[in-house]
Amino acid sequence: MDNIGHLLGHERFHFIKLDVTNYLYVEGPLDAILHFASPASPIDYLELPIQTLKVGSLGTHKALGLAKAKGARFLLASTSEVYGDPKVHPQTEDYWGNVNPIGPRGVYDEAKRFAEAMTMAYHRTHGVATRIVRIFNTYGPRMRIRDGRVVPTFLAQAIRNEDITVFGDGSQTRSFCFVSDLVDGLVRLLNSDSEGPVNIGNPREMTIYEFAETIIRITGSKSRIVKRPLPEDDPKVRRPDITLARTKLGWEPQVSLEEGISRTLDDFRKRILGGAR
Ligand code: UDP
Repeated sequence: MDNIGHLLGHERFHFIKLDVTNYLYVEGPLDAILHFASPASPIDYLELPIQTLKVGSLGTHKALGLAKAKGARFLLASTSEVYGDPKVHPQTEDYWGNVNPIGPRGVYDEAKRFAEAMTMAYHRTHGVATRIVRIFNTYGPRMRIRDGRVVPTFLAQAIRNEDITVFGDGSQTRSFCFVSDLVDGLVRLLNSDSEGPVNIGNPREMTIYEFAETIIRITGSKSRIVKRPLPEDDPKVRRPDITLARTKLGWEPQVSLEEGISRTLDDFRKRILGGAR
């Protein structure tokens, strides 16, 4: 985060522990609020469904109230999950999505959709300078080893030569963005005049089965691929249309999957071979 502070040209960066039930108080002026608070790994939000709904709804309300009081710019970290199991492919920002509100993933999807609606309401009603970014699958060093999302899971399995667990038949697709590219996009959006929503993600799409094979190839692992049941409402396809980010922000991902995975692998190897679980 210090890096982001430096990139933004701001010296002081506060981290606020978001308590969704109390008024948010921060002393002194604030230039910008970046609201990222939420579980984002499916295993986390399936375990914390009510907290996920509360932080996305009540927490966003509190964070917007703070932005309004301070005259601060407000950036909401939204998600490609607002598109649900999409019927438009690749996903453009004007697509309204296909979300099951009462399914297990609904707690995350609907919280983020509500957060977008609340953000736009504060913009329209109170003139808050808001930005919405829809973040697609992102990965990089320092992710938790047991995060549950596919990149850390497959990397840890490959390093340990354990079975690689592909959910379903592995024909579902995802598109993976390296973290430094995402951060570059966020900074550009925050400093731009575009309110968004803007998709930030890497448009290189592959099936999860191909991704498992890619991980085995890059790591040189002896792991085998095994199939496990597909989680409920798992989106069948996902790929960002990044025309808006390209034209409005001059943004383009720079790090290839091979390069990003190798950099993540170095970090995972060090930690796992050092005994981390
Ligand atoms: N996935 C998988 N094996 C795993 C973890 C995830 O096959 O051990 C699949 C999951 O079913 C989904 C894709 O990989 O189709 C991406 O899952 P992730 O949890 O990273 O996030 P999502 O994109 O679903 O939000």
